[in-house]
Amino acid sequence: MGQLALFSGTLGLSPPWQVTSVTFAKETNRLDINVEYRQLTPLVCPHCGAEGARCTEEEDEIWFHADFFHYATYLHARVPRLSCCYAALPRPWCRLGSLFAQVPPPEPAQENRVTEPTGHPCPSLSSKV
Ligand SMILES: [Zn+2]
Repeated sequence: MGQLALFSGTLGLSPPWQVTSVTFAKETNRLDINVEYRQLTPLVCPHCGAEGARCTEEEDEIWFHADFFHYATYLHARVPRLSCCYAALPRPWCRLGSLFAQVPPPEPAQENRVTEPTGHPCPSLSSKV
């Protein structure tokens, strides 16, 4: 549990965001981090200000960081969409200066292919209001 708290802190997560698991693969120098958002009560929408916004369906996203704790790191996140404007919740690991880049979802026919990150810049770098 201490390790998960360490990763949560390093990623800038605070509840209800949480790291649910971390997997190291020494031989491939790869780190996989799973992140979830567990908000069950309504909240104020950070995009449109609507009160009582709820998290509806979640979308799986993968973010890549080339050197996080000296590992090539894949962050697997279930990011909820908000009921009011269907925008995604802001991702805490995507702060200004973050080196995480979103990995585009694989084509359906190529699901087993290894996905190479292509460097979608963090949206908060350009569109932060
Ligand atoms: Zn909204």
